[in-house]
Amino acid sequence: MASPIYSIVVPVYNEEENLPELYQRLTTILEGVGEEYEVIFVDDGSIDRTLSLLREYHDKNPSFRYISFARNFGHQVAVTAGLNFVNGKAIVVMDADLQDPPELLFELLQQWRDGYQVVYAQRVSRQQESWFKRLTAYVFYRVLRRLTDVAIPTDSGDFCLMDRAVVDVLNGMPERNRYIRGLRAWVGFRQTSVKFSRSPRFAGTVKYTFRKSLSLAIDGIMSFSKVPLRLATYLGLLSAGMALVMVFLVLYWRLFYPNSPLIGATIITIAIFFLGAVQLVCIGILGEYIGRIYEEVKGRPLYTVKEVSGYDGASAPLRERI
Ligand code: UDP
Ligand code: MG
Repeated sequence: MASPIYSIVVPVYNEEENLPELYQRLTTILEGVGEEYEVIFVDDGSIDRTLSLLREYHDKNPSFRYISFARNFGHQVAVTAGLNFVNGKAIVVMDADLQDPPELLFELLQQWRDGYQVVYAQRVSRQQESWFKRLTAYVFYRVLRRLTDVAIPTDSGDFCLMDRAVVDVLNGMPERNRYIRGLRAWVGFRQTSVKFSRSPRFAGTVKYTFRKSLSLAIDGIMSFSKVPLRLATYLGLLSAGMALVMVFLVLYWRLFYPNSPLIGATIITIAIFFLGAVQLVCIGILGEYIGRIYEEVKGRPLYTVKEVSGYDGASAPLRERI
């Protein structure tokens, strides 16, 4: 098979209800584009019929390949694995639940042909997502922007097109904490956006639980900002300032209201709790960074693969690295 021009990477975790529709739509669109392509499904340790569907698609059309993880490693790792395996010159990452409309491929490819190396899809609206998700996402992207030096675009997830050159840089990055949308912004190159409105999930339930989303958000901040570390310094300065004010306050009270119950136990209790809280928060923040250092130095493989298809002989790209 000739080397593909386009590669589509799709992380999939228990998406049996969405795969038939996705397969249909992707086939129609990619056949319409009319160049050599490959679709790489990364099965992130699904426990439903996902893997057998992927096998079926590969048998029907060898351009549909898959990598199957030995367990669930998470969305960002699944995308990373997909990028490790792609052969194409232009690589598109999209979700399996059809929230990222495959039809946008035409626009993404057009921008790439116009010379952009990263074309990320930016959502202008999110239909039918809960107000809570919309609000937290809105606030998060703006906080992240303020905290980091890298201009991580707001309201854009992992749905994007990347040129081979960008993917090579991403694949060469040794870090284990893969906050893809951040790394993608970090690499630079010519970037542009394409606006789209995010449709609701075609079927099935959300695989990103609130906990997973929160952990992704913390990963984003911790991997791209040292500002939280500075928080300890600021809080220390604040406490020092408050201590100074307190000295005068207590002296004043002692002199003018010697019998006031405010001095003594109350004020001491407040001070102990306040300082205790400040210290624990700061230790927690330090812990976040130390935990990440630990993850990095252990140097374990990012994922374990139990099955791949469509990668025989010379076309096996980065398999040796696993
Ligand atoms: N996904 C995955 N591993 C996970 C969770 C999700 O590969 O542990 C995939 C999922 O199958 C989907 C994409 O990541 O293709 C986005 O997940 P979801 O739609 O649940 O999250 P959203 O971003 O829409 O909130
Ligand atoms: Mg989704």
